[in-house]
Amino acid sequence: MASSDHVDLERFIAGVNRRNPGQPEFVQAVQEVAEDIFEFIADKEQYHEYQILRRIAEPDRVMSFRVCWEDDRGNIRVQRGWRVQNNNAIGPYKGGIRFHPSVTESVLKFLAFEQTFKNALTGLPMGGGKGGSNFNPRGKSDHEVMRFCQSFMTELYRHIGADIDVPAGDIGVGGREIGYMFGQYKRITNQFTGVLTGKGLEYGGSLIRTEATGYGAVYFLQNMLKNVGDSVEGKTAVISGSGNVATHAAEKIVQLGGKVLTLSDSEGFIHDPDGIDQAKIDWIKELKGRRRGRISEYVKEFKGASFHGDGARPWGVACDVALPCATQNELNGAEAQILVSNGCKAVSEGANMPTDLDGVHVFKQAQILYAPGKAANAGGVAVSGLEMSQNSARISWKEADLQQHLLDIMAGIHERCVEYGARKDSKVIDYVRGANIAGFKKVADAMLAYGVV
Ligand code: NDP
Repeated sequence: MASSDHVDLERFIAGVNRRNPGQPEFVQAVQEVAEDIFEFIADKEQYHEYQILRRIAEPDRVMSFRVCWEDDRGNIRVQRGWRVQNNNAIGPYKGGIRFHPSVTESVLKFLAFEQTFKNALTGLPMGGGKGGSNFNPRGKSDHEVMRFCQSFMTELYRHIGADIDVPAGDIGVGGREIGYMFGQYKRITNQFTGVLTGKGLEYGGSLIRTEATGYGAVYFLQNMLKNVGDSVEGKTAVISGSGNVATHAAEKIVQLGGKVLTLSDSEGFIHDPDGIDQAKIDWIKELKGRRRGRISEYVKEFKGASFHGDGARPWGVACDVALPCATQNELNGAEAQILVSNGCKAVSEGANMPTDLDGVHVFKQAQILYAPGKAANAGGVAVSGLEMSQNSARISWKEADLQQHLLDIMAGIHERCVEYGARKDSKVIDYVRGANIAGFKKVADAMLAYGVV
């Protein structure tokens, strides 16, 4: 095979831009990874020859489909659904489903691309995928959500399978939605298989899957701090979001002796200088879960706390550690600068790509401990991988065993990041570089073994 010319980073990104018009989130995600990978592969000819990065940055396939459903007033509603299967070099496609009005093909392509590296980092055999719809579950009745989920699965079922592609939850998709989708899959195919993860415990779900992403992000933080002789105990934490990831990250911070100062939703954030303790976290779980309420209601219940509305974000509150756990691009360069100026020592991302490229550069330049989502939030998909193993073997593991697996997996991801993120010119580990290279290498080496396919 003829050796191709080395394409430089700028030309590579220009090409990604040209091939993906109107998809800024996807281009941003590829650019963030490519910066590190180009340096790593500079002297590794076969990755160039086989165009590995170019191939990982082109999804295996993108399915787009119409989802029709009927609302409670009898109106016919039309939404768009997608499944992006990015790469299955090391295992079946695996990645969540997101229901949110901000979902576009670009957002799902970025998430599926990130997922490919994240899943490789866990050490488990899972490829990368992501799916979703611009459907907004907020304000919809249970029956409307059920009809939507059933209609979504009526198309999706033909693209997934326990050994093909195994979706899970994400923003707007929790236990209720997974239940409706699994029920419809089972009805259409007449098969009870581990085709979705995040299932209820009664029908094949795994213990600690719900907690795993938030807990894992704090375990990663704990590993970073331990590596520099520090710990979570006594630290003040600013957290964004108030969904699954944020509330469980808050819970683990509290369990490890830290103090949580903020949580948020898309309308604004609450600041509680007394700390958001376990009882308050339980109240928020109930509020945002079963009651489907807004975070602003917190200040009516807990005196001394304040609510900052108009979509305000919590990054101006002084803290030792920050955990962005809401959504992508929720922390920009100026906000990163404020965090650093206020003495923030470490950032662990529970959400996917919550810090924009400017913010990432601020954290890197300030040399604080900064863990990108693809490493820090991999605990969720890791326990999903364990749910797949339990389903295949038709057994359920004990909680203590799963907790230990999660701790070990997060420690393993940390180790892999340290291996590739240590720099001769700095004492601080570059976790972004470490995660990008460790994830890339595993997928790339599998792709080399297959030749050009
Ligand atoms: P949830 O739907 O449970 O919660 C999402 C939270 O983020 C809510 O508080 C929501 O507020 C807020 N939010 C959503 N969109 C925006 C926005 N545009 N601006 C401000 N706030 C927003 O989702 P999860 O907790 O599951 O997911 C949060 C993040 O973690 C996502 O980036 C997801 O991809 C990532 N993640 C999740 C995993 C999981 O296991 N669940 C695994 C790995 C990563 P509101 O109520 O107003 O919508």
